[in-house]
Amino acid sequence: MDSYDAVIIGGGAAGLNAGLVLGRSRRRVLVVDGGRPRNAPAAHMQGFLSRDGLPPADLLEIGRTEVRGYGGEIVTGTVTRVDGSGPFTVRTDDGRAYRARRLLVATSLTDRLPDVPGVRERWGRDVNMCPYCHGWENRDQALAVLGTMPSSLEHALLLSQWTSDLVYLPHLLPAPTGEDAAKLAARGIEVVPGEVERLVVENDRLTGVAMADGTVLARQGLYLAAEFVPNDAILTGLGCAVEDGWVKVDGSGATSVPGVYAAGNVVNPKLGVIHAAAAGSMAGMAINADLVFADVAEGVKAA
Ligand SMILES: Cc1cc2nc3c(=O)[nH]c(=O)nc-3n(C[C@H](O)[C@H](O)[C@H](O)COP(=O)(O)OP(=O)(O)OC[C@H]3O[C@@H](n4cnc5c(N)ncnc54)[C@H](O)[C@@H]3O)c2cc1C
Repeated sequence: MDSYDAVIIGGGAAGLNAGLVLGRSRRRVLVVDGGRPRNAPAAHMQGFLSRDGLPPADLLEIGRTEVRGYGGEIVTGTVTRVDGSGPFTVRTDDGRAYRARRLLVATSLTDRLPDVPGVRERWGRDVNMCPYCHGWENRDQALAVLGTMPSSLEHALLLSQWTSDLVYLPHLLPAPTGEDAAKLAARGIEVVPGEVERLVVENDRLTGVAMADGTVLARQGLYLAAEFVPNDAILTGLGCAVEDGWVKVDGSGATSVPGVYAAGNVVNPKLGVIHAAAAGSMAGMAINADLVFADVAEGVKAA
């Protein structure tokens, strides 16, 4: 079985940046990646200094080239199981196995979307979540925010920074009243109560939102808060402590289990690409230092 200083599970921005740091630290590092980054449906990645507007796949291709430039190995595969406690044995769904002194899990999260016809098909195109990622592109357009959870109201208030033509659709949530209604009114956001039936798409573009009562609201873009489900089965399987539904890490990405690190959206849903990359970089440095000091301790013991 091939042995590595570190195996990184997940080769998005977090995992690849960790791979880059570890390769540059002269570590034998392997990235195992399933090839399904969260932002794959989007045509462009926004808000990453010097890379603003780059297609998401291009960023990862550049990152893979950089990692390989320092001897890092990258393979396609899905890790299904990790055994041991340092060294770890990392197993993929097609029967491969690798040994790792340290582990970084950067497997991201899954966006669970509301069950409204058209949402899934338009996700990352004209149905979005993050105004910092896509708000500029939707500026001054006729937009709607779909109520999916109590925080959707704040989502609508935030989005009003990008357009003054905004409606809030409580959908299956109660229509806002009192202070909530006043806040929306203060930002000029119209509330359209009632259930949303489906999205209206013409010529591969969102043109409206069809309500259950038969009315169609002409809209060019829809925003909604997806439910975030961390892809953390490997971490919880290894016994990593969880707090409020998310695996706990310190500032360097260390989990409660020695030798196991985590970075990116798997432990923090708020991170954009540049933050995920930074978290991976921090974890890469921490893993290298961890290995150096473990070897120092061994050397002292053996002397
Ligand atoms: C539609 C959409 C658009 C977005 N647009 C932007 C934007 O414009 N700008 C921005 O800053 N942010 C944007 N984001 C957020 C961005 O996608 C995340 O910040 C970023 O992808 C997080 O990086 P990550 O490395 O944690 O995870 P990801 O990029 O999701 O990468 C995780 C990788 O791990 C792999 N993986 C998962 N499980 C396993 C396993 N068991 N074995 C092996 N591999 C595995 C996956 O296949 C994937 O390749 C967007 C998000 C969405 C949903």
